[in-house]
Amino acid sequence: TVNKMELSFPSHSVNESFARGAVSAFILALDPLVTEMNDLKTAVSEAVTNAIVHGYRDTIGTVYISAKILADDRVIVKIRDRGCGIPDIEKAMEPLYTTGGEERAGLGFAVMQSFCDRVRVASAPGRGTTVTLTK
Ligand code: ATP
Ligand code: MG
Repeated sequence: TVNKMELSFPSHSVNESFARGAVSAFILALDPLVTEMNDLKTAVSEAVTNAIVHGYRDTIGTVYISAKILADDRVIVKIRDRGCGIPDIEKAMEPLYTTGGEERAGLGFAVMQSFCDRVRVASAPGRGTTVTLTK
C-alpha cells in the first residue's frame, strides 16, 4: 500500500457529496485520468447512497469509508454500514431489482459494476453491508 485513508460520518444525505469529494481528493494524489476519477466518484456515490437510504432506512447510523492506493496504482475503496444488511446479495445486484419503490431504479449495483473493475459485496441481515470497489 502506497497511501491510505479512513473516514466516517453520520448517514445524513448531505454527506453523500462530502464522501464523493473526499474520495476524489484522496485519489488526486495518483494524478488519475479525469474519466477514471469520475468513474470512481460515481461508483462511490452509489454505494454511499445505498448505505444511507437502504442500510439505515429508518435510522441514522455511521457510514465508514476506507481507501487505499496500491503500488500498481490500483485504488480500492470500501464503503461500510452497520445497518439492516442484504438478505439475498445475488438478487440485490440484479439490474432493476429494488426494494426502494417508485423513486428508485434498481441500477446502483449495475452502475458500480460498469464503472469499476471489481465490485464485491459482503452483507449479513442485521449486521450491515460492506461494498469493496476496485479500479
Ligand atoms: P438506485 O440505486 O437505482 O437508486 P436501488 O438503490 O434500489 O436503486 P441498487 O443500488 O442496485 O438499487 O440496490 C439494489 C437493492 O439492494 C436495494 O433496493 C436494497 O434492497 C439493496 N441494498 C443495496 N445496498 C444496501 C445496503 N447498504 N444495505 C441494505 N440493502 C441494500
Ligand atoms: Mg442504489
